[in-house]
Amino acid sequence: MDLSSGKTYWDHTYKGFTYPVLENDVECDVLIVGSGSSGAHCAYFLADQGVSVTLVDKRTIASGSTVANTGLLQYSNDKMLSAMIRSFGEKAAVRHYQLGLEAIQTLNEEVVPSLAENSDFKIRKSLYFASSKEDVASLQEEFKTLKKYGFPADYFTKSQIEKYFSFSKEGAIVTGNDAEVNPYKHAHLLIHYAEQKGVKIYEHTKINGRKHTKEGDILYTDKGHSIKAKYIIYATGYEAQEEVRDPNGSIISSYALATNPVGNIDGWYDDMMLWETARPYIYARRTADGRIVFGGLDEATTKVDKRDTKLIHKRDLLMQTIYDMFPELKGKTMAEYYWGAFFGETHDGLPTIGTYEDYPNSYFLRGYGGNGTVYSVILSQIIRDLILKGKNDNSYIYLKERPMLERIM
Ligand SMILES: Cc1cc2nc3c(=O)[nH]c(=O)nc-3n(C[C@H](O)[C@H](O)[C@H](O)COP(=O)(O)OP(=O)(O)OC[C@H]3O[C@@H](n4cnc5c(N)ncnc54)[C@H](O)[C@@H]3O)c2cc1C
Repeated sequence: MDLSSGKTYWDHTYKGFTYPVLENDVECDVLIVGSGSSGAHCAYFLADQGVSVTLVDKRTIASGSTVANTGLLQYSNDKMLSAMIRSFGEKAAVRHYQLGLEAIQTLNEEVVPSLAENSDFKIRKSLYFASSKEDVASLQEEFKTLKKYGFPADYFTKSQIEKYFSFSKEGAIVTGNDAEVNPYKHAHLLIHYAEQKGVKIYEHTKINGRKHTKEGDILYTDKGHSIKAKYIIYATGYEAQEEVRDPNGSIISSYALATNPVGNIDGWYDDMMLWETARPYIYARRTADGRIVFGGLDEATTKVDKRDTKLIHKRDLLMQTIYDMFPELKGKTMAEYYWGAFFGETHDGLPTIGTYEDYPNSYFLRGYGGNGTVYSVILSQIIRDLILKGKNDNSYIYLKERPMLERIM
């Protein structure tokens, strides 16, 4: 799959580490296929746990969708908590939101401090604004719901928004304890950490064959080597749909850009991350070197040609939206990097862990959704527990069969 095109930003900010191609046969306890955000968090959480772990990627580290990721980490996500409760019941929906909050806390307190350097991770607030007057009622209902269950949130009125920002909106929820990260650097540093703890890492190593035996699956690389593992984690991102399609998953196209460094912006209070109630939504954040990263304008296409012919037009529309929101930036700002990429989401709004009879002892980690990095953190810890302890109390929320629906029916 041609996951992205154009000029991505994060790979220009960080050199990263390189790893060898796999040149021999391997036996291990756990094989992780994929080195993006999902595979990197799996490697991190499985490192030093008394199991032998091997990770392979057909590309270089984190060069799949993770390099196209804009790095907003939020406990709130594409489907509001109030809507989640209606779909999945109170218990699973609230727990899912809590797990998002806990994932960001785990990154802040445990993961990032353990890395060789900071992955440009910073705790930030988000401004989730009403895209239109009609959305204010559902936004206020969402605010009440978040407060009811103890999530860190405030409400900004139109006049507060106008006081703090260059633009005007009818209302907004401000969520706390969110964060921003350089997703490419972060994945590299996680994998470097894992390698230091004994995880074997190989890049330019494609899995292109599989043999099913009584003892488990043997996977084969494009160089003809075998990897025999007791457990396999398919952290292959949107390309997992090519191996086993999850009917709940859906791939579309999305667009993003990074401007030149513009320094402090008076009309952008507290460098909050910005997003909105419209679907598809636009979203924005600042970077460590003072750029604006801005994305959105999704298109319902899985055709590379169709995605790419719209890239320049989408870049110009995104820039125009920046000027509409921050008129003071006109004439001072331009898109230095811009890219189009495939983007995966699920129809029901939750990411999935897939297990299949034909793939014994294997887990498909599909962190699909705009909050994919937070989902990588949640799902990789659950899969670690399923492998090491045989259970995790939160797995029922994410198993592709959606067992919690049986409880609320
Ligand atoms: C424009 C855009 C903006 C986004 N913004 C955000 C955001 O702000 N916040 C957020 O949390 N998420 C965001 N996302 C989503 C985020 O990018 C994804 O959730 C995340 O990168 C997925 O990581 P992954 O590891 O699952 O997939 P990937 O990064 O694609 O990693 C999968 C890896 O598997 C490897 N692989 C596949 N098949 C094989 C094989 N057969 N053999 C060996 N290796 C294989 C690939 O080479 C790849 O490196 C955004 C996505 C896009 C496109």
